Amino acid sequence: MHCNCYKYNLVMQEQKIKDVLTSCGISPSGPRTAILSYMREHFTHPTAEDIFRDLKPLVPTLSLTTVYNTLKLFVEKGLCLSITINEKMVRFDGNTMRHGHLLCTRCGTLYDVAPTPDTSDEATWMLDGHLVSEVHYYYKGTCSKCLSAETHMS
Ligand SMILES: [Zn+2]
Ligand SMILES: [Zn+2]
Repeated sequence: MHCNCYKYNLVMQEQKIKDVLTSCGISPSGPRTAILSYMREHFTHPTAEDIFRDLKPLVPTLSLTTVYNTLKLFVEKGLCLSITINEKMVRFDGNTMRHGHLLCTRCGTLYDVAPTPDTSDEATWMLDGHLVSEVHYYYKGTCSKCLSAETHMS
């Protein structure tokens, strides 16, 4: 899905995005800059295919393999999160702040939800003698939209 302001934002933010890539030790190629820029503007948890489809018109040389490899690199460097829905579907998240996800099993939408229960600083969080470095909250259920649609039908 494209909004009209997208191309304009891409130009405005390009240098900022390049600086982020460089500071993570990633050489800021055109495709990498475009993909990180996209991830910082689309908090819809896109798949690699979604990103490829949306960016291909803007970056004609882009390939799906490049998108996959770039996302893998971003996840390694902590610039994106990957959320495994099932073995066939992985979604990506440009919001790297700690938050939970709720997958609606009816409409397939992945929602950001508050990270509950609120935990202490993960850098020092011990669990049964293990050091926690990352926490993922992943809920499945029925989203508010699907629930209200159901109410209206009955
Ligand atoms: Zn739903
Ligand atoms: Zn998210």
